[in-house]
Amino acid sequence: LAGRACYRIYCAADTEQGRYQQRLSEALIASLKTAPEEFRVVYQPQYHLASGQIAGLEALLRWDHPEFGSVSPSDFVPIAEHRGHIHELTGHLVRCLLADLPQSPGRLLPGLRLAINISARQITDSRLEALLKPLFQRIGGIGWLPEIEITETHLMHLSVPCLDRLREFGRQGVIVAIDDFGTGYSSLAYLHTLPVHVLKIDRQFIQRLGEKSRDSRIVSAILGIADALELEVVAEGIEHEEQYRKLRELKCHRGQGYLMARPASWHSLNGALIDQHQE
Ligand code: C2E
Ligand code: CA
Ligand code: CA
Ligand code: CA
Repeated sequence: LAGRACYRIYCAADTEQGRYQQRLSEALIASLKTAPEEFRVVYQPQYHLASGQIAGLEALLRWDHPEFGSVSPSDFVPIAEHRGHIHELTGHLVRCLLADLPQSPGRLLPGLRLAINISARQITDSRLEALLKPLFQRIGGIGWLPEIEITETHLMHLSVPCLDRLREFGRQGVIVAIDDFGTGYSSLAYLHTLPVHVLKIDRQFIQRLGEKSRDSRIVSAILGIADALELEVVAEGIEHEEQYRKLRELKCHRGQGYLMARPASWHSLNGALIDQHQE
């Protein structure tokens, strides 16, 4: 994806698509600097598949631009990465989260995960730890657990400093997940050396679940690897009952998808996060 965006930005500047990308890119950089109100965060719940109970939330960025409308993070995150502005983007994510999350647990369900997406190349940025610290403190303060999701495509390129940083996050109680697992290049030999706790199976494998027996074999294989390495597994993009049933049968731990819940604002989600048994 990053490669494709790069091609569009730098190589196709004289096509209509290229000019659109160029304008979008300029607009993003302007908005990052001067229009923080255009950024917001939505939350998609994750569930324990065995019990159906809520397990946590994934925070997803949204950018609403007056001219371009609602731009997908799949489009603007690669631009921010290539233009060297991913730090600012994560800054807006943190700011939005701190505005949403309460200061104390109140009647919130205890022990939920709150996952954020971090670009692999950002992991070694020396400013990252200070940027995330107040967020992790707040998450801890409400009795929840912070989790970071890193996309697998780049994992083969993780340098020693990067692995050290992930290990350090782990020591601080941050759960580290490999996002879009199965789409990248991480070899099995390499996987057991990574300081990660969770594999998040990419939607493309979940989509085909239930259609053919061959497709459930891929998911079973991932669950087998995870079991051997004592990793937790999350399935993303569950849209149909059949997929949910199959995943529960295969003993996949957590799941998220439109079948259960779409990403929503903190405000509209609040009721689902309240502990009903607490007075
Ligand atoms: P991702 O991390 O793989 O996130 C899952 C994407 O799938 C989200 O799209 C989510 O809305 C969507 N999704 C969830 N359930 C379903 C489903 O059942 N069916 C279908 N078709 N889609 C589903 P979204 O929000 O557009 O985000 C796209 C990507 O942008 C994310 O993919 C993530 O890689 C990136 N991204 C989003 N927010 C951030 C951020 O704050 N920082 C960084 N670095 N990347 C982000
Ligand atoms: Ca993710
Ligand atoms: Ca994913
Ligand atoms: Ca993705």
